[in-house]
Amino acid sequence: MESVRLLRGVTDIIHVREFFEKWDSSVLPTLGIDLSVQDPESNAISKDMDVPLETVMELNTVCGVDTLKSDDELPHYTMLKTIPDDIDLMTVKMQKNELIKRDTSSQYKIYINKKMKYKTVQEKLFNTIGATMDDSKPPVPSEYQIEHDVILDVSIHTAVCMGASQNVQPKLGLDQKFQVLGTQHLSELRDKISCVNDLGIGGDFSEDPDDTSGFYAKDVYRSGFFYIEGVFYNDLREVDSRDYSTVIRKWAAEEGRGIGPMTTQQMDETFFLDLKVRLGQPYLYMHQGNCEHIIIFNDIRLFHPDDAQDRREYPRLAFKRTYKRSICRVCEIHSSRWLTYGSQHAPDDPSFFCDQCFRALHYDKDGKKIGSFKAYKFFDKQAVL
Ligand SMILES: [Zn+2]
Ligand SMILES: [Zn+2]
Repeated sequence: MESVRLLRGVTDIIHVREFFEKWDSSVLPTLGIDLSVQDPESNAISKDMDVPLETVMELNTVCGVDTLKSDDELPHYTMLKTIPDDIDLMTVKMQKNELIKRDTSSQYKIYINKKMKYKTVQEKLFNTIGATMDDSKPPVPSEYQIEHDVILDVSIHTAVCMGASQNVQPKLGLDQKFQVLGTQHLSELRDKISCVNDLGIGGDFSEDPDDTSGFYAKDVYRSGFFYIEGVFYNDLREVDSRDYSTVIRKWAAEEGRGIGPMTTQQMDETFFLDLKVRLGQPYLYMHQGNCEHIIIFNDIRLFHPDDAQDRREYPRLAFKRTYKRSICRVCEIHSSRWLTYGSQHAPDDPSFFCDQCFRALHYDKDGKKIGSFKAYKFFDKQAVL
């Protein structure tokens, strides 16, 4: 892949399985011996320090953090709904003042709410509300418990033109972030990525806006692929799926292109552990024929007890960008539901209408179409995803 442009700061190629096994053999020496042993961490300490396991267990009991607790300790202090009055800590006082300020000043409340929308806050919340923090959840059934695994942080970005210059760093608009497990298939991530184009329903519905015979694009055009380090991971789970990569591979193989070699695999047969990736390098997810998303692996690390423990929660959505709604051009209140071409009631062409305004302006009292225009169902990204 000599012609591939690498972004500044990307890492060398990492083989995820190798990464996992190397770390695992040094951090968790018990792997492969007996995973059901009570406590792999104590086993590791016992081996490293060359002391019997019983001694480590005893030290755990005698010197563990639990010994720091007193009998009358309040449980789940951080989860309290109201702050008790008898606490004399400066941080608690400040927190109290903050809450009072928000309650008394509506302007300040709006300001704070705006700040809370920021992605950093969203991500912080996601990271703190881990499975171990929430004791109200029922225990995870054993078949869904995760033992040893790696977690990959994957971000999905809106596609941009990379530009011709090698020195210009492209601007990538962050759209979604996921945590996936190494032992999950690529297709599991594909199924979680939301794109408004999957919800498109083709065709002009101006004659009968109540017609519900259309199909979502995702149910009709189900093919797609990830392109990562010279490999097309195709989604061929459906019998009518196409290999989108055929035409690209044919083009790349032409003389003088200097690209390739490119190979193919199936995404539902490939684990994230099988991937070879560079952290920080943009790869491609393509579906619906030509809907492109940039996909970046930001981090690979070992699965930790503080992570969500239920396998069913992965791939786990860690962040989703909020977009401005596309509002109705008439009432400027409701989200757009219709896209029209040739409408005499619209200030622009094409134009956007909410359902009420669209029907009120384009149909008579018997529901008959007035004038000649075309109407397409419109799905607003912020409203439907
Ligand atoms: Zn898309
Ligand atoms: Zn409207």
